[in-house]
Amino acid sequence: MSILKIYTFPNQILKKKAEPVTIFDHDIDEISKSMLDTMYISGGIGLAAIQVGITKRIIVIDLKSGVEDLSEREPHILVNPKIVEKSGATVSEEGCLSVIDFRCEIERSQKITLEYQDITGKKLKMDAENMMSICIQHEIDHLNGILFIDHLPYLKQKLVKKRLAKLAKVEK
Ligand code: ZN
Repeated sequence: MSILKIYTFPNQILKKKAEPVTIFDHDIDEISKSMLDTMYISGGIGLAAIQVGITKRIIVIDLKSGVEDLSEREPHILVNPKIVEKSGATVSEEGCLSVIDFRCEIERSQKITLEYQDITGKKLKMDAENMMSICIQHEIDHLNGILFIDHLPYLKQKLVKKRLAKLAKVEK
C-alpha cells in the first residue's frame, strides 16, 4: 500500500488533460490501488489520477468510503471513463481533496450512462444516478483539467480562486 501526495489548487497540474490508458499492465493495477488507499486515508469519496500527479484517465470512487466496517466498502476503479448519455439536473454541495476548505453547490446531470474499462482493459457500461452520477462527473472533470469551482459563475469564481490562492500561499 502506498499513499500518494494529493496536489491542491492552484497547482497547475490540476489543469492538465489526462491521457487514455492503452496498456493495462501491473502499473495500472498498482496506481489504482494506491489511489484507493490515498482516497480512503484522506476521507474522500472520489479521486482522479491527475490529483496525485498521474496524467492517466483513471478515477476511483467509493461512496461508502467513510464506513466503520471496512467490509462494507464499495470501491470502483474506472479506467477511460466516458459519459455517453446524460439526463436531468441535480444540485448538491461539492468539495474536493484538491480544493482545501471550500465547498459549494454545483449543478450536474442527475443520470448518466458511462462507458469505461476495468483494470484488465475489459470494456464495461454502467448507469449511475444521484450521488454516484455526481461523483463520476466531478472526477471525469478532473481528467479534463476542470475543478468543481470552474463551474461557478465568473465573478464568484474569480473571488473564490483569489481567496484560495491566498490561503495556499499562507499555508506554504
Ligand atoms: Zn475533486
